[in-house]
Amino acid sequence: MRAIRVHQPGGPEAMRLEELPVPEPGPGQALVRLSYAGVNFIDVYHRSGLYPLPLPFTPGSEGAGVVEAVGSGVDRIRVGDRVAYAGVPGSYAEFVAVDASRLVPVPEAVPLDVAAAVMLQGMTAHYLTHSTYPLEVGDVALVHAAAGGVGLLLVQLAKRRGARVIGTVSTEEKARLARDAGADEIVFYTRENFRDAVLRLTGGRGVDVVYDSVGRTTFDDSLASLRPRGMMVSFGQSSGPIPPFDPLVLGRGSVFFTRPSLAHYVAEREELLWRANDLFEWIGCGELRVRIDRALPLESAQEAHRLLEGRKTAGKLLLEC
Ligand code: NDP
Repeated sequence: MRAIRVHQPGGPEAMRLEELPVPEPGPGQALVRLSYAGVNFIDVYHRSGLYPLPLPFTPGSEGAGVVEAVGSGVDRIRVGDRVAYAGVPGSYAEFVAVDASRLVPVPEAVPLDVAAAVMLQGMTAHYLTHSTYPLEVGDVALVHAAAGGVGLLLVQLAKRRGARVIGTVSTEEKARLARDAGADEIVFYTRENFRDAVLRLTGGRGVDVVYDSVGRTTFDDSLASLRPRGMMVSFGQSSGPIPPFDPLVLGRGSVFFTRPSLAHYVAEREELLWRANDLFEWIGCGELRVRIDRALPLESAQEAHRLLEGRKTAGKLLLEC
């Protein structure tokens, strides 16, 4: 099969297309013939070595396709089922072997490209708005990179829960997309100090929660944008890692800080199915819109990473396997 491989961490050029044997599904596993692999920022961290993986490896943490074969002891998934998953390595390939317990059946109403697009970023938006800081009607949320893959979904789910959403973006086109997703106010954080804008928009109070995936360049002002006892949810570092900080900075507003990961919010199968099925249901009835920026062929993985890291995408980037 064709697969993208990384032998040494580095830039996008560290990814090469190679021929590999099709994996054998082990006990409890299913072999999935992938239709699409989702491209996510975590793939960049794996490729660059920020989150080291044993070498060599096949990047990609998310995909959707059709079950080709099952290993021993698998009874909940059958050959021919349409399935999707997130948080399992090796999806920049034509086939992947996945523990059946991590696979979610994809309803007929949801095309496989949309399923691949929504597993990792959608379930992230779900846990952030429903579990990490469960938004309530009237809460004010600041969502950074509001036109990103997670961002456009996060804005929609925050609105669904009745929050007022202030989104940050870098371009007019991204502002339009974030507004279409429901953002109430947009701040161009590359042009103006977003903390000043947030304080102005909230009458000096600050927001109840900041969902910050940008990291290094936004961290300080995100904390300063919170109301007293608000919550800073630092869930990514697209601009680079946050330097170590003194807990006393949280004391300025008695604010809460958390650094959540999807894995801890879908560890139980029940929780995985809750989040994925909510998303599929809302997509099926047209209440959640998934924007696919583009789908590139598998061999264009390098280009995909350049686009994502270069802030050139809005919504989801896919590889067609
Ligand atoms: P995005 O589609 O959001 O792409 C990143 C966006 O971040 C860019 O489009 C850009 O938007 C913004 N950005 C701001 N500064 C920079 C910079 N210096 N370099 C690159 N981008 C920048 O990516 P994803 O939706 O895949 O992921 C978003 C973040 O969420 C990532 O940090 C990822 O690691 C994290 N994440 C965390 C999870 C968790 O469970 N903890 C799960 C899923 C994702 P703009 O041009 O508008 O500024």
